[in-house]
Amino acid sequence: MARTPIIFGNWKLNKSSIETAEFMSNLAKVLPKLENKVEVGLAPVMTCLTHAISAKNDAPIQVAAQDMHWLEHGAFTGTVSAQHIKELGCTHVLIGHSERRQLFGETDGRVSDKVRLAFDTGLTPIACVGENLTQRESGQAEDIVLRQVDAFVQRLTADEVKELVIAYEPIWAIGTGQTATPEDANQMHRAIRESIRVKFEDAADDVRIQYGGSVKPANAKALLAQAHIDGALVGGASLKVEDFMGILSAC
Ligand code: PEP
Repeated sequence: MARTPIIFGNWKLNKSSIETAEFMSNLAKVLPKLENKVEVGLAPVMTCLTHAISAKNDAPIQVAAQDMHWLEHGAFTGTVSAQHIKELGCTHVLIGHSERRQLFGETDGRVSDKVRLAFDTGLTPIACVGENLTQRESGQAEDIVLRQVDAFVQRLTADEVKELVIAYEPIWAIGTGQTATPEDANQMHRAIRESIRVKFEDAADDVRIQYGGSVKPANAKALLAQAHIDGALVGGASLKVEDFMGILSAC
């Protein structure tokens, strides 16, 4: 089953609007080298999304928001809705990143509401899951991750599952320089796919599962060579065009 690799950069709270625009136009210049073999996207800071979209011009770079509210509108000071993100021209939205879960108290239920609303609004969710170190060391990693996945997958149709992107990001590997071995990551990706297959026999082969957690140009090739690793969600190494291109070229 050939799934087009999908690599996204998550910039978190980094880069000004000027830096965002500069990066986008520089990336747009070198991207043709990849001959459209990989789907590429970036998730800049919310207020820099329009700068990113106009600077990329018509280059094949998708732009994602890093989060959104779980409801369409209401008394929710300081947040934005799926519709706002869509109106800007974003195609994707990161949902349930571990920093959102850990620092902002996002539960599996909220993540599931957001994934549902993203699809209802015409955005592709990149739904993030992953276990922490204690959970891994106590042998609970797979149970935790599959529960996180089930919370949103159970509310989707088969066609939505085919479009869904899941990012498996073990929390202990994010920003730490520690990566899961390609074999361990692949095993978790396979477990995620097989859990989806229980309800969605055919669609399970189409869902793309990114790995995230200290992906760098030096380790990308070995990770992306695994049968169930369909791309990467990249933090630190997506902040420089050369590093990001190094990862994209590994596809
Ligand atoms: C992330 O924040 O999603 C991430 C994977 O970060 P890093 O690549 O820096 O570990």
